[in-house]
Amino acid sequence: MGGPGLAVQELSVGYGPVRALRQVSLDVPEGAVVTVLGGNGAGKTTLLRAICRTLSFHGGAVTGGTVSLDGRRIDGVPPDRVVAAGISQVPEGRQVFTRMTVADNLRSGALGATGGRVERAAALRRVHELFPVLADRAQQRAGLLSGGEQQMLAVGRALMAGPRMLLLDEPSLGLAPLMAERIAATIREISAQGTSILLVEQNAALALRLASRAYVLEVGEVTLSGPAAELAASDEVRRRYLGVV
Ligand code: ATP
Repeated sequence: MGGPGLAVQELSVGYGPVRALRQVSLDVPEGAVVTVLGGNGAGKTTLLRAICRTLSFHGGAVTGGTVSLDGRRIDGVPPDRVVAAGISQVPEGRQVFTRMTVADNLRSGALGATGGRVERAAALRRVHELFPVLADRAQQRAGLLSGGEQQMLAVGRALMAGPRMLLLDEPSLGLAPLMAERIAATIREISAQGTSILLVEQNAALALRLASRAYVLEVGEVTLSGPAAELAASDEVRRRYLGVV
């Protein structure tokens, strides 16, 4: 814990004329859980796309700033190099391959990873230990899983690359409270195993419980940041994101 990890500095992003991020800076130290809170359209997904280098698939581009992992710039590399560098993303809306089996979905997550057969087998064991249901239903089509199980599959698929850092885009979205709590418990466990986590969430109450540090993004700008417990106690966060009047 406490290594350099991921550093985003003064990052600006545009989709054509739309300025989606303005000079956003944030850090995810090695081993930490960091959350980015913000409402619809604040720029949370855009931030993850910029880190994973998938912006161009959505018509966006970085217009300024840098992204580094352990002091090395990764803002000029192709997306597969980001995975190889140790960053995996769990995308918004899960995006599992519904016609493929659970096992094949997991296999697809190892594409682009640097490890060989031994590492892949170890990653699969880890995923099955975290989510036994994915072992039980390995040969079923992913489309037959419940929403919560599909979220587990999306997280499991990302873990198959053996990442040092996981980027999670609204993992609790659309899940019943009990299932959201199960996902939260797993995020805690993944973190305890040493994987750093950048968690983007609209569910501020859940995110602030998981994270050590938090940032608030509003219309593309960081407006607040600090220890998660401090933000959770601040009047503004309580009013705007925790629904406390
Ligand atoms: P949500 O929770 O609704 O996904 P978000 O915080 O993830 O919101 P983004 O999806 O990153 O926000 O959107 C930030 C801004 O960029 C918004 O104004 C949005 O309309 C715009 N935007 C996002 N994707 C595109 C795109 N592909 N083309 C043009 N504008 C986009």
